[in-house]
Amino acid sequence: MLLKKIPPLKRLLLLLSRNASGVPRQQYDVIVVGGGHAGTEAATAAARAGAETLLVSQKIHTIGALSCNPSLGGVGKGHLVKEVDALDGLCGRAGDWAGIHFSILNRSKGPAVWGPRAQLDRQRYREYIQSELLSTPRLTVLEGSVEELLVTEPDPAEPGQQRVTGIHLANGSHPISASSVVLTTGTFLSGSLFVGKSTSPGGRFGDAPSSGGLSQTLRERLGLRTGRLRTGTPPRLVKESVDLSLAVLHPPDSNPAPFSFLNKHTHFKPEEQLPCHLTYTTPGVEKVVRESLHLNCHIHQDAKGPRYCPSIESRVIRFPGRMHPVWLEPEGLTSDLLYPQGLSMTMPPEIQLRLIREIPCMHKAEIHTPGYGVQYDFVCPTQLSPALRVKSTQGLFLAGQINGTTGYEEAAAQGLWAGVNAARWALSLPELALSRTESYIGVLIDDLVSRGVSEPYRMFTSRAEFRTSLRPDNADLRLSLKGFEEVGCVSSSRYQEAVRVRGLLQDASAALQAFSLAASTWREKLPEVAISDVKSTTLTGTEVLKYNDATFEMLASAFPEYFSPYVEFSQRIRIEAVYKPYCDLQKQEIERIQREENMSLPEDMDYFSPHVSMSQEVREILDRVRPSTLGAAIRLQGVTPSAIVHLLNYVNKTRQKKRRAHGNHPDRKETREEARYAGNASFSK
Ligand code: FAD
Repeated sequence: MLLKKIPPLKRLLLLLSRNASGVPRQQYDVIVVGGGHAGTEAATAAARAGAETLLVSQKIHTIGALSCNPSLGGVGKGHLVKEVDALDGLCGRAGDWAGIHFSILNRSKGPAVWGPRAQLDRQRYREYIQSELLSTPRLTVLEGSVEELLVTEPDPAEPGQQRVTGIHLANGSHPISASSVVLTTGTFLSGSLFVGKSTSPGGRFGDAPSSGGLSQTLRERLGLRTGRLRTGTPPRLVKESVDLSLAVLHPPDSNPAPFSFLNKHTHFKPEEQLPCHLTYTTPGVEKVVRESLHLNCHIHQDAKGPRYCPSIESRVIRFPGRMHPVWLEPEGLTSDLLYPQGLSMTMPPEIQLRLIREIPCMHKAEIHTPGYGVQYDFVCPTQLSPALRVKSTQGLFLAGQINGTTGYEEAAAQGLWAGVNAARWALSLPELALSRTESYIGVLIDDLVSRGVSEPYRMFTSRAEFRTSLRPDNADLRLSLKGFEEVGCVSSSRYQEAVRVRGLLQDASAALQAFSLAASTWREKLPEVAISDVKSTTLTGTEVLKYNDATFEMLASAFPEYFSPYVEFSQRIRIEAVYKPYCDLQKQEIERIQREENMSLPEDMDYFSPHVSMSQEVREILDRVRPSTLGAAIRLQGVTPSAIVHLLNYVNKTRQKKRRAHGNHPDRKETREEARYAGNASFSK
């Protein structure tokens, strides 16, 4: 009890000193290596799932650190945060506690692709994560650098099936054993930092890289294929040196939506939150980049960088002559620094200063910390099972940036799932997989383990083919119930809440469906809604809610005796009502896809046909490999799920046309496509 009153960092240190006197145990169910976004979720999920867990991280005070932008969520990423929260993970609640600017991105599009996002106070986020770790039962935290994994010698009778048995710390202390180990070393595996022409070993500014022994064990003893990737971060600017009056003001949302299903409000009220600002690069920026390319070795490296969060150097080279957006974002509620999102750069510090001063509002800007790049090893994730276990090594799990992803949210999502499965492994329970039909986490893991990565992977809504059903608003109903009943990582109180919400939403839907009035009466009762149906038409409450200007609150205030018990979930009720027909259709599509996985594809299929919508990259892969079935096409690296849906529709349509041409309309002339497929007997149905 007394510990709760002590600041989180001090409490952790106290806990450590207690461990030091009691000495960490020599045997755990699960050891998690690394206290970043993947590691903290993995350790707490493993402990929640019932495993005695040890989290080992290089520095206690950097546990939960935001290495780059202090922000959480966004398009696609926000879905992951909501899903991690639905499975009782930490990042959503930490985001609500530390958020200082909440906004929903993509709001002009439908709620299925809205992107909940918040700018965070770095310090508060880290403190929240640390205090959650401290209060998690069955979890011990230890400061230390893991030097090596302990693995059994290869067994000639079972080639490729070694078993991980624990870890060795760098300070030469005794080994610590575990039934399973989760590696979440982020950008630290053989990490090197780059500024200008100089390079130094490091996982992040101010942090040493992970020991070479770890990379060596993975590559040489376990025979894992690894690759090299790179990323970078912008310089941090002194806030008062930037003239924000010359940039466009972006206030936070007036009604900020929390990430966590357990929170009704964000910690900071809208009036306490801070604005962000938007500005653009100028031709002068491009000139400085071009003139300094020879002084910038990071940009010349072969390792692939993030395509979706590129450095200013990559942007200028790829899109010359453009003005690129730069967001000026606060680093914390009381921080004196600004984070210029979009200006990640690795040129020498004096040139970084010249570059930023080419932007009008930064004409007199001062740099607090220069930008830098980092290169690191990752493990090719096709070597993992859908539980994120290394297929060839028993008990070894990998999560986060080590699997070739980029971003806190992607790391957190993998960490949670690896932690759950590491606990299950240790407790002799079967591995679990999340399907891409039920979650973005399932999409993320399936993409990684079946397609691999050739550049840092980040989540987008376009990666999820069933996105109408996988919305941020319904992540609790998709995952909290399953998380409690089948996975064992969700608390009973969250489960009870999800059951209550499910009941209320079902009751509200039934009440709306059962309530019908003549269109003329609706018009009278809800004059603000432009109900266009003819006078005699009868409309249910569900149908009225589908009008653009209708809200559930309006119905509840017009007919409180029917609808007021449900106003707490007004927005969700409306989204459900609007999306239900599409979700029902999508359900059929999911079943159809599963059925038609075995469908054969014509040998002479024209993948370059303008009638099938897919990227040039996907067309080239399909044309090169010419998969014989849809299932084989699905598993091809680089073929996106949405391309598969288009391909399936195209083949089906062509087949229908062919049937019609031969059956119903014998006189009709075949189109070129139909003629191409006429007589082809290889379709399975
Ligand atoms: P991390 O958060 O990096 O955590 C790794 C943890 O492991 C650290 O706590 C470290 O101390 C610990 N550790 C490492 N080795 C050992 C060991 N041997 N023993 C014990 N502990 C160990 N993401 C974006 O989406 N956009 C960006 O623009 C972006 N830019 C970035 C720029 C930089 C310079 C860096 C470093 C990262 C950037 N990221 C960016 C990535 C983002 O920070 C990561 O995706 C995310 O933090 C990955 O989480 P993680 O848990 O895998 O690893």
